[in-house]
Amino acid sequence: MDVIGNAIEIMNEKGIKFIRLQFVDINGIPKSVSVPFGSDEDLEDMFNDGILFDGSSVDGFVEINDSDLIMKPDPNTVSLLPWRPEESGVCRFICDIYNTDNTPFEGDPRSILKKSLKKISDKGYNYNIGPEPEFFIIDKDEEGNYIPHDDASYFDVEPLDKGPNFRRKLVFDLEELGFEVEASHHEVAPGQNEIAFKFDDALKTADAVITFKQAIKAIVDNMGYMVTFMPKPFFGVNGSGMHCHQSLFKNGENLFSDENSENGLSQEALYFMGGLLKHSAALSAVVAPTVNSYKRLVPGYEAPVYVAYGLKNRSALIRIPAARGKGTRIEYRCPDPSCNPYLAFAAMLEAGLDGINNKIDPGDPTEINIYKLNDEELEERGIKTLPASLWEAYHAFEEDEVLKKGLGSHISEKFLESKYAEWDEYRIQVFGYEQKKYMSL
Ligand code: GLU
Ligand code: MG
Ligand code: MG
Repeated sequence: MDVIGNAIEIMNEKGIKFIRLQFVDINGIPKSVSVPFGSDEDLEDMFNDGILFDGSSVDGFVEINDSDLIMKPDPNTVSLLPWRPEESGVCRFICDIYNTDNTPFEGDPRSILKKSLKKISDKGYNYNIGPEPEFFIIDKDEEGNYIPHDDASYFDVEPLDKGPNFRRKLVFDLEELGFEVEASHHEVAPGQNEIAFKFDDALKTADAVITFKQAIKAIVDNMGYMVTFMPKPFFGVNGSGMHCHQSLFKNGENLFSDENSENGLSQEALYFMGGLLKHSAALSAVVAPTVNSYKRLVPGYEAPVYVAYGLKNRSALIRIPAARGKGTRIEYRCPDPSCNPYLAFAAMLEAGLDGINNKIDPGDPTEINIYKLNDEELEERGIKTLPASLWEAYHAFEEDEVLKKGLGSHISEKFLESKYAEWDEYRIQVFGYEQKKYMSL
């Protein structure tokens, strides 16, 4: 049976009543429309022809004078929504966006990732990503202020850790959605949790990140709390990252592994890292895309600040976990869960491929705590810092032709426009901190 037939069979078997068609805007925010399940024939037509919608109402898509776009469900993404009622349930598909002439729409983040992946699938390569999204479960105090819902810390257990029930429900729901969860635990900061899922092809993983965030929001909301993927919700404690473990495979073999090399890494792995390091400033704009992201990227909280790689070093931008052979991978630590995973993965791949194609040498690994180096020592070692603000990252992206070309001119222009507006709105605000510090002047 073909994929469409298979999807239709699953839906009939489960007595599905509603079909949710979903995609993301340029910021990675999910958008969806619900269609009642009519006949098998109607459904088949929908898979083949898609449905028209108004693209001018979606951030980063098209202008009002040329607003028609088509969304077409990808039958491979069929999944029931376990947090919706079981009877007359809901089935969700992730869509690709097309122009009315049936060409892929260049403003669709998912299509852009597919385009980057096509460059390597033509050579028989697979780009795998294992993301580690962190998040906070939030409560409110009597005055209505946001507070973490528990006081637990890294790997704590109940009763300190109040997350096991959330994580238990989440792991079950994610399994029903087809995810393989690697591990879940309480993270370092109060109220902070992490669920890591097994690595997979970058497209599936990007779909998974979107689904994961929706699932946990629905579950935590049903339990009377709120979840946030904001990168730095509280001053003075760790923020939330979404480290991305990455590798390239060919015919089931891990191309980042070379047992005969000094540290078990292949030349491809080194060059890929070289590319990530070279483009790190511009990449930050895409993988850490909010003004708040840069409050996470400061020394002392296990988040990267310095453009270097290390073998076990959590103060470096890239860490190479100890696993070798099939499990060889590089962990890029800058991304946070506020990013659009399609654009983030496409941009990381483009940077890595630039490294491979142009043989970019990443230099030697740095094995000391870089947080402790002073400016002089950093300069001696040639270690640069990541952008300190969205504004710096914005300019780095503006000047990075490789990434702009990789994401295409439509996305790059709309992205810059949107980040400019975000920065401009932020820079004129007056915060409580400033009032406290300067009111007595
Ligand atoms: N929360 C840290 C970050 O912001 C990461 C902690 C860890 O190594 O898992 O990236
Ligand atoms: Mg973590
Ligand atoms: Mg990690």
